[in-house]
Amino acid sequence: MSENKKFDLIIVGGGISGTAMLYTLSKYTDLKRVCLLEKYNDFGTVNSSQLMNSQTLHFGDIETNYTLEKAATVKRSADMVKNYLETQKLEQPEEKLFSKYSKMVMAVGSKQVKELDARFDTFRTLFPHLKKINREEIGKLEPRVLKGRDPHQEILALVTEDGYTVDFGAMSRNFVKKSQALNPELEICTDTKLSSIQDLQTHYQLNTNKGVFEAEVVMVCAGGHSILYAKKLGYGKHFAILSMAGSFYTCPKVLNGKVYTMQQEKLPFAAIHGDPEVHNANVTRFGPTAKTIYLLERYNYPTYLEYLKVFGFTPKAIITLIKIASDWVILKYLLSNFVYDMPFIGKRSFLKEVRKIVPNIKLSELTFAKNTGGTRPQIVNNDTRKLEMGEAKIEGRNIIFNITPSPGASTCLGNAYKDTQTVMEFFKGKYTFDKAAFEKDLVDRA
Ligand SMILES: Cc1cc2nc3c(=O)[nH]c(=O)nc-3n(C[C@H](O)[C@H](O)[C@H](O)COP(=O)(O)OP(=O)(O)OC[C@H]3O[C@@H](n4cnc5c(N)ncnc54)[C@H](O)[C@@H]3O)c2cc1C
Repeated sequence: MSENKKFDLIIVGGGISGTAMLYTLSKYTDLKRVCLLEKYNDFGTVNSSQLMNSQTLHFGDIETNYTLEKAATVKRSADMVKNYLETQKLEQPEEKLFSKYSKMVMAVGSKQVKELDARFDTFRTLFPHLKKINREEIGKLEPRVLKGRDPHQEILALVTEDGYTVDFGAMSRNFVKKSQALNPELEICTDTKLSSIQDLQTHYQLNTNKGVFEAEVVMVCAGGHSILYAKKLGYGKHFAILSMAGSFYTCPKVLNGKVYTMQQEKLPFAAIHGDPEVHNANVTRFGPTAKTIYLLERYNYPTYLEYLKVFGFTPKAIITLIKIASDWVILKYLLSNFVYDMPFIGKRSFLKEVRKIVPNIKLSELTFAKNTGGTRPQIVNNDTRKLEMGEAKIEGRNIIFNITPSPGASTCLGNAYKDTQTVMEFFKGKYTFDKAAFEKDLVDRA
């Protein structure tokens, strides 16, 4: 008789994506035989860790590369996270999952100022709390932004009090804890590393270091690794990944809240911004940089071989890469970001970027944050020969793969909502999803 562990659904990956899915299933569906596999001994320790990302709950209000349509979608998901966090704060104030600071995007020079002004007119209905502020008001909120700045330089900012700064690692652990309380049948397996998935048509077989698991439906929420498993099962063959590591520099408090700059067109990465740390307002972080690395998981060197498998290095993938890098904006960006991580010259060249936010900051104030900053699995589409701007979801037979570059943490519950609907379709009406309750708790309150 088979000793395999059998479930209706298995989630692979205990980061913010996998745990948000776990929570959504536990709270809003009647699906009970669910299992979570996580290769480390805790949750949210990779890209979702507070050390590895910018800790920003992105609503689309200050991200100037988002269209109104994209901002509306991101806002809906971010509102879910915000509502979840506010409820947690009321229920368990001792569990610190987030801090709230002010948040602004600043335009410098007449071209940017005109652009931001026009943007405000378009976005103000979607974001009624967003305010347009002038030089004097910027100075009151963020004195260091004005100190040392050319008094003739035109500046304008959009600001909101909704600067949610989130410890997505702690939130992942909170999702697991809540799910366990909601569903005692849940099986949580840490230190359990998936090695391969086989589609046996009646069900999936998942081979791990802790034995064989079986499930009718599988959700792979393993960051860049998701695409590795997708490809092995024959899905997403036209995708490759550019692994974009992001580093940070820190300094003693120079900003009271989050200060973003205008984003550059064509780049799927946030322009360098300054943010107070989620658990320590006396530290300001600048970043993230964006450097291509050949690892699926930053600081985990054995993932080099896995990265090579995902990239494929087929002629098609190489031509796509050359095409992407032949765009001068992208090439220049990649080269300058490569320098930022280098000893001695890195800090000096990064200083120029930081001075766009805090003009009189000194070199001695900045420190390179070691072992900080994860990697964004940025999707390269070998068919369209383009770098895709957001997350990717690949659906197969009773299986979903989520690949989550930024702002994947902000959209975790929005993704879980979507995926739960798909999972219900996989089960063909055997289980139900109480969408009305989800929306009442997490959407309508916004
Ligand atoms: C520098 C940087 C800044 C960012 N800033 C922001 C931001 O401000 N706001 C925002 O919303 N997003 C931000 N992001 C993106 C965000 O961090 C990610 O989208 C999000 O954390 C992804 O969550 P995840 O659960 O999909 O992946 P991860 O957090 O990487 O979790 C994947 C999990 O899968 C597990 N796993 C992998 N392989 C296996 C296996 N074989 N078996 C079992 N388990 C496995 C891993 O151990 C891990 O726990 C940033 C990312 C970076 C790198």
